[in-house]
Amino acid sequence: MEPIRGGWTMLLHVGDLVKMRKAHPCGNDVWRITYVGADIKMRCEKCQRIVMLERPVFEKRVRKLLESAGESEA
Ligand SMILES: [Zn+2]
Repeated sequence: MEPIRGGWTMLLHVGDLVKMRKAHPCGNDVWRITYVGADIKMRCEKCQRIVMLERPVFEKRVRKLLESAGESEA
């Protein structure tokens, strides 16, 4: 796959596992990406709730990419 051109700092894929700076009310801070576009959708790994964030907002709130689904796809 070609890198996304758009000035985003992170290369994200559906299936990526990310750690956020702020924990969800359920106490979990690890999320699975379920949609990547101008907005990012992610599912809480603990309570399964889905949250949608605008991409710049997501990139401000994310702390770390724990697992990339993109690397294994040839
Ligand atoms: Zn949660």
